[in-house]
Parts: sequence; C-alpha cells; structure tokens
Amino acid sequence: MTTNNTDSNAYSNFDLQYIAGEWQKGEDDSVNTNTNPYNGDTLVEIKQATKTQLDEAYQAATVAQAEWAQKTPAERAGVLYKVVDIFDQRQDEIVDWLIKESGSTRIKAMVEFGSARAITLESATFPSRVHGEIRPSNTPGKENFIYREPMGVIAVISPWNFPLHLTQRSIAPALALGNAVVLKPASDTPITGGLLLAKIFEEAGLPKGLLSVVIGAGSDIGDAIVTHDIPSLVSFTGSTAVGKHIGELANGGDCVKQVALELGGNSPFVVLKDADIEQAVKAAAFGKFLHQGQICIAINRIIVEDDIYDDFVERFLDHVKTLNVGDPNKQDTAVGPIINKKQLKSLKDKIATAQEEGAKIILSGDIKGQLVPPHIFTEVTRDMELARDEVFGPLVGIIRAKDEEDALTIANDTMYGLSSAVFTKDMEKGLRFARGIRAGMTHINDITVNDDSNAPFGGEKNSGIGRFNGEWVLEEFTTVHWISVQHTPRDYPF
Ligand code: NAD
Repeated sequence: MTTNNTDSNAYSNFDLQYIAGEWQKGEDDSVNTNTNPYNGDTLVEIKQATKTQLDEAYQAATVAQAEWAQKTPAERAGVLYKVVDIFDQRQDEIVDWLIKESGSTRIKAMVEFGSARAITLESATFPSRVHGEIRPSNTPGKENFIYREPMGVIAVISPWNFPLHLTQRSIAPALALGNAVVLKPASDTPITGGLLLAKIFEEAGLPKGLLSVVIGAGSDIGDAIVTHDIPSLVSFTGSTAVGKHIGELANGGDCVKQVALELGGNSPFVVLKDADIEQAVKAAAFGKFLHQGQICIAINRIIVEDDIYDDFVERFLDHVKTLNVGDPNKQDTAVGPIINKKQLKSLKDKIATAQEEGAKIILSGDIKGQLVPPHIFTEVTRDMELARDEVFGPLVGIIRAKDEEDALTIANDTMYGLSSAVFTKDMEKGLRFARGIRAGMTHINDITVNDDSNAPFGGEKNSGIGRFNGEWVLEEFTTVHWISVQHTPRDYPF
C-alpha cells in the first residue's frame, strides 16, 4: 500500500515532539517555524523543548536501554525489519516530506530514501552479528572473555542536507545494537531528520523511551545535549566548525565522552588525460549538482589534466546548460532550492569572491528566491576560495593540472579528506592515484557521492573521526568489556 500526505493514514501532529515515549508540546517560549525552501510555505510551527524536557528524554532512555539490551537478537532485529516494511508502505509520504521540507529534488529524495532504507536493513543484521571473544591468557589458569556491549545512551545530532538518511544511519545501528538514542535534528529539518523517524519506529513497536527527538534552540539545548552526564557517545554529523566545538565540549569540563564526528569535505574529482571524457562529464554534473551541491561528499573541485582541459570544459558546459532548475517536486528538475537564506547569502558571497579573485565565470544565471542556477568557473587556482573552502552549493571551479603528479598534489591540497574520485581508463593508474589521495573514500570512474551500507563511510584530516556502516559502525556504537576468570588458584608473590 502506498500513501501520501492527503491520505487519512498519513502521520500528523508534527507540532509535538517525541520525548520519553510521549508526544509532548515543547515547553520553551521559542518556536521553530518549519518552512518549505522552494515556496516559503510554513509547514509546521513547533514549540521548542527546554533543558528539563531534554533531561526527561535522557532519564527515560537510561531506563529503557537497560531492558532493551536484554532482548534477544531476533526481537531487536524484528523492530528494524518492521521499520523497513513501514518505509516501503509509506515511501510516497516520506519522499513528499523530503521534497517539501529539505528542498530535495524528486531524484535526490529517491536516492536518500534508498540509502536510509539500506542502512536500516543492514542494521537489522547487527543484533546477530555482534559477538565477543575468548583469548588465551599469559597467567596460568586464567581465561579471558571479551564481551561486546552496547554503549548505553547515544546522543545523535544530525544535519539538514540528507536529514532522513544521516539521522537513520546513526539511530538504526545504535538501536539495533542495544543502545537508546536522544536525537537532536537540524532546525531546518525537524520532521525528515527526526519526528518522521520517531513515528516510524513507534509504529514498528520500538519500546517507549528508547528514542527521543528533542527539538530546541541550539543556544539553549545545543551544548546540554552533549554535556549531559548520561550519554556515553555523541554521534555528530555536520560542519567541521560545529564538530570541533562538540568534540571540545565532550572532552572538557567534567566530561569524558567518545565522539563520532562526520564533518565537512572538499572532494576532488580528477579527470586524467586518458579518461572517457563523455562519462566524466556526466558524472561531474550529477556528482556536483545533485541536491544543489549541498552534500558533504559532493564534488567540490574538478581537476582536469591540461591535455584535455579545454575539451572537458566545453562538453561540461554544454551538458550543465541542459539541467532544469526549479520546482523540486517535478520529475525532471535537476537543481532545486537552497535550504535557507543564510546558505543563500554565503553562496552569493562566494560568487562575488570568485570573480574578485580572477576566476573566469562561464555559466551563471539569475538567482530567483532560493533557486541558484549552476555556476561554472574556469582557470580556478588552488589559492582561491572556491578551491580552498567547502562550497555547499551549485557552484564549481575547474582547476587545470599539468600532469598526473600535479593533479594528485592539487587533490591533496586541502585540510579535508572525505571523498574523492578519479577518471582514467587505466586501472593500474587509477588505483595508484586513488591510494595517493589522503581521504576516507575514493571512487574510480564514478562520482564522489557514494554510500554503501556495508562499506566504511568517513573521513581523514578535518573531515572527522570514525566510520559509519557495516562492522565499522557496529564497533563504534558498542564497547568491549574484558572479563577474566581465574580457574585455578593463582600463585601471588606476596
Ligand atoms: P551544522 O554543523 O551547522 O549543524 C549540524 C547540526 O549541529 C544541526 O543539527 C545543528 O542544529 C547542530 N548544532 C549547531 N550548533 C550546535 C551546538 N552548539 N551544539 C550542538 N549542536 C549544534 O551543519 P549543517 O549546516 O546542518 O550541515 C552542513 C555541514 O555538514 C557541511 O559542512 C557538511 O559537509 C557537513 N556534513 C557532513 C557529513 C558527513 O558525513 N561527513 C554529512 C552531511 C553533512
């Protein structure tokens, strides 16, 4: 059965928050006004939560977690499989929310839906994959048992760009592995990044208190969600600047907590002279302009070897000119709206700076409302802002590299190390180049935007700490407990 928001079966009452197993009104005086970034419509007004409500969420999580950790693997997996069923039943409803709340084009919303569903399925396998070890001891008569246990309560803070998936890739593994979660979604996407998932988990039969979604002003509950003494791990996805702050908070004052940080990127997309240029052009357009470039692993710099630079630029320009910009709800729209006015201003500033710094603009267009058409700059150099900073919008600079070695030097000339890509027909060369890039992920003959629920996702350098997906998140969201048994009396020296 498929539903949409006009169905009576569709979820409602998104002005309430799911705290400690109850749908409650926020008790703070401030209001989160949730708007559609394409047409400015108000979707819902949510009274924000107070620190007292945050505390209530944490207290309930502790109680619920102790019981949840004792459930059999099949019981925990069962909830996750039910979530997958509900995803399938409510696919249209979920996609519709992604389009109207986060400005996702229909294409991006489907990509995001698929990724969120995939990590839920993967997480359903975790309860039975988690296991301990028995290790020999150097002490006669002793045996070492290593138990793998849940972390306890995990704080999750998620961003607005892939809200459903980037929230689900933390909360699904966390819950599957016997933890409880207190989640703070981004202010621009409280529904797709939180409340919608809470409705789905509730419908799937997740016991009360295990998942709370707390929507509050960053200034009020932002720090408290990290510094509260209950969570033992903070799983943060967002900008490097805020991530550093979270890391300091989690390990400062009275706190010593583990952090998993998935931060910003500056992904290079390298086209070597023997590449299939036509394929590289299509990949560059999709990997750059999907979700208006607002993706941490979006192509941020296109680096092209000198011999084919002019040819690539001409073909890329021709292709990008064909992309439709506009209503994200339309099937054939490639570029939809920018999430909010602050991001829009930052992109306008970047366009001005690129021109002041001497980049040549070869494609632009009028900015209408929050719609920014693709902007392409050529003759971009490594010192320009477009090459140095994470752009997070539909603007791209194309950098000329003298040769393969120069291309690698340019690719690595960044403080980030998240994703990357290289196009070449020579697989040996591709592998050599890929291994030379200091990043968590490199894709040969594909875009930088890839996420497989069973492959490690994460970054090096200022792009973060830790990895998502598969056994990497399984380890990250659990801890080990060494228990030794002295079977025979030990001979102590005194
Ligand atoms: P952001 O850092 O501004 O916000 C992320 C989250 O942190 C939001 O929920 C926000 O409300 C919250 N937050 C802000 N200040 C806080 C504080 N003081 N205490 C606690 N929480 C606080 O990022 P954004 O604008 O939502 O997302 C865009 C950024 O996220 C980009 O830099 C992008 O590269 C990065 N990102 C990284 C990944 C990844 O997997 N590495 C994925 C998506 C986005």
